[in-house]
Amino acid sequence: MSHVVTYIGLGSNLGDSPQILRDAIQRLNELGQLKVSRLYQSPPMGPQDQPHYYNAVVQLTTTLLPLDLLDQLQKIEQEAGRVRLRRWGERTLDLDLLIYAEQDIQNQRLTVPHIGLLERDFVIVPLLDIDPDLIVKGQKLKDLELVKHPSLTVVADGNWVEK
Ligand code: ATP
Ligand code: MG
Ligand code: MG
Repeated sequence: MSHVVTYIGLGSNLGDSPQILRDAIQRLNELGQLKVSRLYQSPPMGPQDQPHYYNAVVQLTTTLLPLDLLDQLQKIEQEAGRVRLRRWGERTLDLDLLIYAEQDIQNQRLTVPHIGLLERDFVIVPLLDIDPDLIVKGQKLKDLELVKHPSLTVVADGNWVEK
């Protein structure tokens, strides 16, 4: 089985979010080789009456197939006590499959590249930490307008998580 490079977006705004993200990264580390972005805070998307988010992105090099990887991500979300209250509402942990190699995937459970990727600075900025030259849907991420005036702030540089 061959290894593929994937990117996963992590978000949390309930509970001890930095620790929840650290724990999730420990779990993701069991699925392959990891590179981790800086840790960020960002204003909520959707309903505004919820706490700000902690966000990060990891690059995961894995042999898992897309739907098997999604199964694992959803399992880790459940372990973190994820409950669905309202669309884009508060959550202990969100794990989104942002990129799976060069693949375009469209099925009942998965849209890859992730549907909101090019519109979300809290995904793009951490992606650029890991690969400054990343191209998604033919778009060089670092050239995007929203990278110039990001709404997110760096909370921790480099080694905020032990793998
Ligand atoms: P958004 O996807 O806009 O960030 P969300 O992360 O809050 O919203 P969830 O409640 O976490 O949405 O997921 C809803 C469904 O999205 C999941 O059941 C999953 O099957 C589907 N989904 C489609 N594409 C993806 C993807 N690339 N990564 C994760 N889930 C996906
Ligand atoms: Mg999401
Ligand atoms: Mg999600």
